Amino acid sequence: MIERKNNIRPRQEIEDNKIIGFDMSASKFLITKEIEFMNPRFYRMEEERLKRKHRKLSRKQKGSNNKLKGQYKLARFYSKINNRKKDWIHKITHLLSEHFDCIILEDLNIKGMQQFNSGISKSVTLDFSWHQFTAILRYKLEQKGKHLIFIDRFFPSSKTCSNCGHINSQLLLNERKWVCPDCSTELDRDINASINIRNKGLEILKENQIKIIKNNDTTVGPTGVAFRENLRLITQQFLRKKEATCL
Ligand SMILES: [Zn+2]
Repeated sequence: MIERKNNIRPRQEIEDNKIIGFDMSASKFLITKEIEFMNPRFYRMEEERLKRKHRKLSRKQKGSNNKLKGQYKLARFYSKINNRKKDWIHKITHLLSEHFDCIILEDLNIKGMQQFNSGISKSVTLDFSWHQFTAILRYKLEQKGKHLIFIDRFFPSSKTCSNCGHINSQLLLNERKWVCPDCSTELDRDINASINIRNKGLEILKENQIKIIKNNDTTVGPTGVAFRENLRLITQQFLRKKEATCL
């Protein structure tokens, strides 16, 4: 796993409460037991305006100056939306890389995600920036000597009971909650997956001889006031009120 492009030495000791594992879903983005947050749907938010602009442009005469002008305006509008998206990615990855020493995610099959998205409008695909998000997150963590770990996509993160390790191969995609047939624990699909992802990441850290220091300080990490406040500020800046369901 831990291969690096720069010369910054990765930390060999990290605090337990600064290690976070996220489950990822197309609808909710990142989820853990302590927090969940959405990625703003920048294109979807502007869907109506985009449609109107496209319609207006299509009525203009081919090859005319007006058409050219319209095309230029539309391109500018797209790049404005894209810049907002990039701005959000930079702010959120900065926040995560400041507050955590190790972030554990699933190595997603993006092609599969796109197929999954293909039935929905194009804006969903444009809004979905997993690759961009993880590339920037990796760079920011590495600059600080921190770790980003990807868990193999075939690891059964949703189907494994995080309490006893039982694998529920019968679990269906639409089952959001389930009870482990072995230990009777009630499990929330996404939170259970995030715990399994984190545990798998801890194993990988240990295999790489990285020392994990126990720390029960709840003012740092996902429960810390500073982290939550900063996350709230970013969310407020980018999401419309009705969409800000995180925290
Ligand atoms: Zn169990």
